[in-house]
Amino acid sequence: MEKRDPEIITEKELMRTWSRFMRAQGKIIGLVPTMGYLHQGHISLIEEARKYTDLLVVSIYVNPGQFSPTEDLSTYPSDFRGDIDKLTALPGGVDVVFHPQNLYDYRNNGSESGDNDTSSGATRRNNNSGDAKEEGREEAVMSCIERQSGNAHETWIRVERLERGLCGKSRPVFFRGVATVVAKLFNIVEPDVAVFGKKDYQQWRVIRRMVRDLDFPINVIGSEIVRDDDGLALSSRNVRLSTEEREKALSINMSLSRAKIAAQNGQVSCSDLRNSVIQAIQEAGGKVDYAEIVSQENLEAVEEIKSPVVFSVAAWFGKVRLIDNMEIDVRVQHVNTQVWT
Ligand code: AMP
Repeated sequence: MEKRDPEIITEKELMRTWSRFMRAQGKIIGLVPTMGYLHQGHISLIEEARKYTDLLVVSIYVNPGQFSPTEDLSTYPSDFRGDIDKLTALPGGVDVVFHPQNLYDYRNNGSESGDNDTSSGATRRNNNSGDAKEEGREEAVMSCIERQSGNAHETWIRVERLERGLCGKSRPVFFRGVATVVAKLFNIVEPDVAVFGKKDYQQWRVIRRMVRDLDFPINVIGSEIVRDDDGLALSSRNVRLSTEEREKALSINMSLSRAKIAAQNGQVSCSDLRNSVIQAIQEAGGKVDYAEIVSQENLEAVEEIKSPVVFSVAAWFGKVRLIDNMEIDVRVQHVNTQVWT
């Protein structure tokens, strides 16, 4: 199949104009939101989206609104040229890469009060914790685009129950930032279909709930986790692991897959299963943030596995926080579960 460069669009207005033009011609548009540094996990979402759409938009935007000032926004890996090369090499390619500079800069939007904010600081990286302190607000719920005054961004979407547990406990601004930027992308790109990875299981559930609750006319699809040959879930952050840390990090997928088989063989007590995973990760040298077994739909903790659940883990190896999960359905035989040893 012929290789072709995607069209790169950086302006919101141009993006929306492109989408509306294509939709007026009856085209079905898919969106795959990413933060770039693309790997096979992202590519699998693109392949999934192709099944449902005529045209495909991949967004590449590292969203400051989902990072707290103490998190790794400034060290998040990026390689825009490499990303474009990967997308160009794909059979069928992608149609548009939406690559905005700053989604929180409203200087060209005019303003509802008529006075433009000329001081949008949304590109600031990890340097605004002072604003929070001056205002006396909780630093824990500040993201990297918070501002104390002016016409800067101040509207946030909260998916109140689903965002609370799992990653939401240690990353209190994360899902607020994700839901908000995804809503913005939906309003800019106006896709018919959007594909998210189940690697970020809670994120996928949060977005589906937001789309349902706010009546976005968009079909949100969850795509399966893509793993390396040794079982480690692919992540842009893996590049920051040393060889030794990467080796140790395999304890996550190994212990999760063992727990899945144990559950399918009748060991349904969640505290036992959780303990075995926590112990395996700790013995490998990881620091467990959480290891929880929750219902797939509502992400509520369960004590015993009776209906479909997801076993979700977050753990630190060195300076890198990794997440992974496995869906478990005890009504399904264990024959298909891969174990890495
Ligand atoms: P990110 O660039 O990390 O924000 O991820 C963009 C999208 O890719 C999200 O929907 C992720 O869930 C998805 N994704 C990231 N890694 C994987 C993976 N290993 N398998 C499947 N989807 C993934």
